[in-house]
Amino acid sequence: MKILNQRFQINYQYPVYFTKHLFHLDNPDLRNFFGDHATAPILRKALVVLDEGMVLHHPHLKNEIARYLQSIPCITPVEPFIVLPGGEAVKNEEGYFKEIVTAIDHCGIDRHSYVIGIGGGSLLDLTGYAAALAHRGIRHIRVPTTVLSQNDSGVGVKNGVNFLRKKNFLGTFSPPLAVFNDLDFLETLDDRNWRSGMAEAVKVALIKDKAFFDWLETHAGALVQRDMAAMEQLVYRCAALHLQHIASGDPFESGSSRPLDFGHWSAHKLEQLTGFSLFHGEAVAIGIALDTLYSQHIGWLTESEAGRILSLLKKLQFDLYHPLLEDAALLDGLTEFREHLGGELTIMLLQSIGQGLNTHEMDHHVIGECMRALKESACLKMS
Ligand code: NAD
Repeated sequence: MKILNQRFQINYQYPVYFTKHLFHLDNPDLRNFFGDHATAPILRKALVVLDEGMVLHHPHLKNEIARYLQSIPCITPVEPFIVLPGGEAVKNEEGYFKEIVTAIDHCGIDRHSYVIGIGGGSLLDLTGYAAALAHRGIRHIRVPTTVLSQNDSGVGVKNGVNFLRKKNFLGTFSPPLAVFNDLDFLETLDDRNWRSGMAEAVKVALIKDKAFFDWLETHAGALVQRDMAAMEQLVYRCAALHLQHIASGDPFESGSSRPLDFGHWSAHKLEQLTGFSLFHGEAVAIGIALDTLYSQHIGWLTESEAGRILSLLKKLQFDLYHPLLEDAALLDGLTEFREHLGGELTIMLLQSIGQGLNTHEMDHHVIGECMRALKESACLKMS
């Protein structure tokens, strides 16, 4: 027998900028980034993919971006820009994926060019996926424009689309070249999307950072009142925790554990069962509530800790019950969660506020009891 052992390491690093007015001509951030990155004396193309729902609120943005990119000596923006619908629909229909890769082909976007995605987490997931597959990987830059994408999805290494009616069934681990979080975009979010993104902040605080949880409790009122200074802190801290986690553990999730997906096994299934009428963050808030009650039920969390968590979610104005929680298919979410990574079922629960702990079994009867408790609490609220 002969064996050749292959071994090499790849170092990844990428900056996450926190800025304002990214495409104003006097903002140097993106220009300086390209200046540092695109050093060889060749012109590099940039294909821009925009979220239509965001563009509607920023009608001058396309012109601003074109003017800004044209002002960078080494960059040629490819026009017209691609504008695709925002929201989960863009991850559900294959046609949008084809539109991006076809443009990559027609416009001659090669591996020294850039694909720049500007929009919410859904648009960025699709754009990153298309960029990762075309030519086996084109450099992509993300400009997240929602709370959720700035504090979580846009700063990480994953992308993906839905397939076979399963959430994120197709996707890759492909770190971006850089991320530019521009706080100004958040001003135009509707209240639902403003709120939705905060669920991921509660999630990461619960599994990693008690002080951040305390901070969220103190600032819940300001956050609901759309206080920008409070949101700026939330986004920064939450993004930092996600980045630290990715760097410290298993960035490409080769094990069976998905620690950042606390509350997500039911959330992903609920999103799908509701035909995505429930937003990702809204479903995550319900998933957090469910797994919080479960953690209390098995004696890991105290009643007072569980009460604080549910109370924070309510202060942030999340509904913590949905009738489809009781759909028998919800429990398939556990199987799909396990199948996504393979190996043993591994679900993150809470040992205390700020500290997650994995379990390898979930009792369906106990899950049912926790669902009923959420329903009763929702009924009480309505009566
Ligand atoms: P979204 O991308 O679905 O966008 C929600 C809505 O906001 C859309 O209608 C969009 O057009 C609109 N919008 C975007 N920016 C706007 C702005 N500045 N002003 C006004 N409207 C704007 O929602 P999301 O919460 O950003 O992302 C959810 C997606 O992220 C889900 O598909 C989820 O699975 C995914 N996600 C991915 C990861 C990851 O690691 N890749 C992590 C968490 C979540």
